[in-house]
Amino acid sequence: MIYEPVIGLEIHVQLKTKSKMFCSCPTHDSAVAPNTHVCPICLGQPGVLPVVNGQAVRYGVLMGLALNCEIAEHSKFDRKNYFYPDLPKAYQISQFDLPIAIDGHVDIVVPGGERATARIGITRAHLEEDAAKNVHESGASTYVDFNRGGTPLIEIVTEPDFRSAKEAKIFLHELRLIARYLGISDADMEKGHLRCDANVSLRLIDDQGGIVGARFNPKTEVKNLNSFKHVEKAIEYEIKRQTKLWEAETPPMISTTRGWNDTQNRTDEQRSKEEAADYRYFPEPDIPPLELKELADELRSRLPELPAARRARFEEEYSLKPSDARQICDDPILADFVEHTFSELHAWLLALPELQETEATVLEHEKKKLGRLVSGWLLSKLGGLMKERSIDIRTIKINPENFAEFITLIATNKLNNTAGLMVLNTMLDDGSDPSHVMEDQKLGRVDDEGLLAELVTQVITSHPTEVARYKAGEEQLIKFLIGMVMRASEGTADAGIVKNMLLVELKSE
Ligand code: ADP
Ligand code: ZN
Ligand code: MG
Repeated sequence: MIYEPVIGLEIHVQLKTKSKMFCSCPTHDSAVAPNTHVCPICLGQPGVLPVVNGQAVRYGVLMGLALNCEIAEHSKFDRKNYFYPDLPKAYQISQFDLPIAIDGHVDIVVPGGERATARIGITRAHLEEDAAKNVHESGASTYVDFNRGGTPLIEIVTEPDFRSAKEAKIFLHELRLIARYLGISDADMEKGHLRCDANVSLRLIDDQGGIVGARFNPKTEVKNLNSFKHVEKAIEYEIKRQTKLWEAETPPMISTTRGWNDTQNRTDEQRSKEEAADYRYFPEPDIPPLELKELADELRSRLPELPAARRARFEEEYSLKPSDARQICDDPILADFVEHTFSELHAWLLALPELQETEATVLEHEKKKLGRLVSGWLLSKLGGLMKERSIDIRTIKINPENFAEFITLIATNKLNNTAGLMVLNTMLDDGSDPSHVMEDQKLGRVDDEGLLAELVTQVITSHPTEVARYKAGEEQLIKFLIGMVMRASEGTADAGIVKNMLLVELKSE
C-alpha cells in the first residue's frame, strides 16, 4: 500500500489589458507612484457604475478556448463579499455559478515521471478583479496601494488530477507559455502576474493501483505561491507532512489553509476551512450578463498555434528531437528564429542541383541532417556563446538568413567545427555574414590536398621522437600528430582526412 498524492491547482493570471477590469484607469505598473492609477470606481466609491472591459473578456475567452474548455453562452458576474483593507468595496466582482469557461483539459509531458503523460482536467475559468496591495513597511504600519485594485484576472481551477509536485510545476510552465502565446499576459510569477494556490491531500492505493477507502480526503490549501520553486517545495513538503500524519494513524480530518514559509522551508497553518468566510455570493446588479456565443465562435477561428501544436510541428517538419523542439518553443522569439532559419535552409536544399529529381527519402535524410546541425549549433554552441556574453536571441546581431548560410557552410564541409566556432564568434561581434568572415579570416577549410600533405610531412619531420615511438607501438601518439597538423592548419583542416594522410605517410616511410 502506498499513499498517493492528490493535487489540484487554483491559478490567477493577470490579463495584460490597457485598462482595468471595470474602469478606465491604466493597469498597474510597478514604475509609478502608489495610488496614482485610481478612480472612484476602483476605489469603491458609492454611486459609481462599473463597465466591463471588452478586451479582458476576449482574453478570458481565448484562454478558455486554449484550455479546451466549453465557453458559456450565457455568463454573468457576481459579488463575493469579504472584508479586508485591500478591498475598498468590501466585495470583489467575480463569477460564481456561470463562469466564462468550464470543462477543459491540458495534456502535459512528464519526462522521467511515474506517468510519462497526464491529462489535467480544467474545472472552470472565470474573470474577476484583483485586490489592492498591502505594503507592510518595517515597523508597525501597513499601507495600501490601490494601483493593482481592479486589474483583470482570470482564475483557472484544475481538477485534482496531479500526482506529484513535478506534474504541477510542468503544468504551470505550460499554462504560462499558453498565456504568452496568446499574448494575454506575460505570466511572470516573479512579478505577480501568475499566482497559484496548491491543494494537496493523500489517499491509500493498493498494490494493483486501486483506491482503498475514500476517493478524496480532506485537503490542505497552500495559498499565494509566487514562484515555481515555492509551488514545488510547498507541495513536496505537504506530501511529507501528511504522509507522517497517515503513518501515525492521525490523517487530516478537516480541510485547512496553510501558507508557505520560505525562510523555515515549511507550510504553516493559517485557518481551518470550517471557520472560513461565507462569501454570500449574489449576482452583480450593475453589470448586464455576458452573451459569449458569437465572440467564442469568432475567437475559435482565430486561435493562434499553441505551444503543444508548435512543438509537434517542429518535430515533424524540422526533424527536431522532442526535447530540442520543447526547448526552442519555450521561447516564442527563438522559435520564430528557428522557423525562419529552416525556411531558408529548406529553400537552399531544394535548389541544390545534386538534389534535383532525387527521391523523397534522400531529401528527408538531408532535412534530418540539417535539423541535427541547427539544433546542435543553435542550442549548445550559439547558446553557450550567448550565455558567455549575457545576450539572448532578442539582442543577437545574427539574423536567421546569416545563421542559415552558416549552417549550409557546415553542411557542405566548407567549415569545420573549430573554424565554425570562430566564424560564429565574429558573426556575434558584428553581425557580418559568414562567407565574408571566412574570407576575411582565411577560415575556409584546407581541403587543398597538396597543402595538407605538405603540413603532414612537416609535422613528421619535425617530430622524430614521437614518430619513432609511434612506430615502436605507441599508437595513441597518432592523436598528438593529428593535433600538430591541425594546429599547423590553424584548425581549418578536417581531422579525419589528416588522420588518413598521416597513417598513409607513416606506413610508407
Ligand atoms: P473548496 O471547497 O476548497 O473550494 P473545491 O472543490 O472548489 O474546494 O476545489 C478547489 C481546488 O482543490 C481544485 O483545484 C480541486 O481540484 C482541488 N481539490 C478538491 N478536492 C481535493 C482533494 N481532496 N485533494 C486535493 N485537491 C483537491
Ligand atoms: Zn479606476
Ligand atoms: Mg472552491
